[in-house]
Amino acid sequence: MVAKKVIRMGHPTLRKEAQKVDPSEIASQEFKEILVDLYDTMKSEGGIGIAAPQVNISKQICLIELPENNERYGHLSSSPLFIMVNPVITIVDKTLQGFWEGCLSVPGLRGFVERPKAVQIDYLDENGISQKIIAENFLATVFQHELDHLFGKLYIDRITDLTKLSYTEEFAEFNGAKKEDSLDE
Ligand code: ZN
Repeated sequence: MVAKKVIRMGHPTLRKEAQKVDPSEIASQEFKEILVDLYDTMKSEGGIGIAAPQVNISKQICLIELPENNERYGHLSSSPLFIMVNPVITIVDKTLQGFWEGCLSVPGLRGFVERPKAVQIDYLDENGISQKIIAENFLATVFQHELDHLFGKLYIDRITDLTKLSYTEEFAEFNGAKKEDSLDE
């Protein structure tokens, strides 16, 4: 398998609602290959999440994995690999929290986004089994960023203060925040 090309903002696939996966597809070889390609692409791009529309596959599939002992995200808790098919999100705690976000499909930029602090996701896993997770704090932001990709949204749509949109280099130079305080997915 090979890492796929990540499409960038401006590509129409990123602005479409992705199609739900028919659960009978999940056991297919083609589906497994999509998962491997997504994983390889996420790793080769240094992301902590990726959604199928980002490689121009308009299906409701996304992967999230916060690596352990990773230099960049080392101060944040790691997570297992989540493979989510047809995820449905419910807000559990609507208190807003802000993080600097970046996106593999919007390279070179960072933006400060406020999102609800806790969400529940109901989804099918890679075996087609129903799963439920409650994500809080940083992980809640990671999940919401990723799920947005399945519904045609990008993080920049959610920036409420556009003075907090920055190029990566200027962000590092002027923001006082460290590069590792933001995410890429
Ligand atoms: Zn993204």
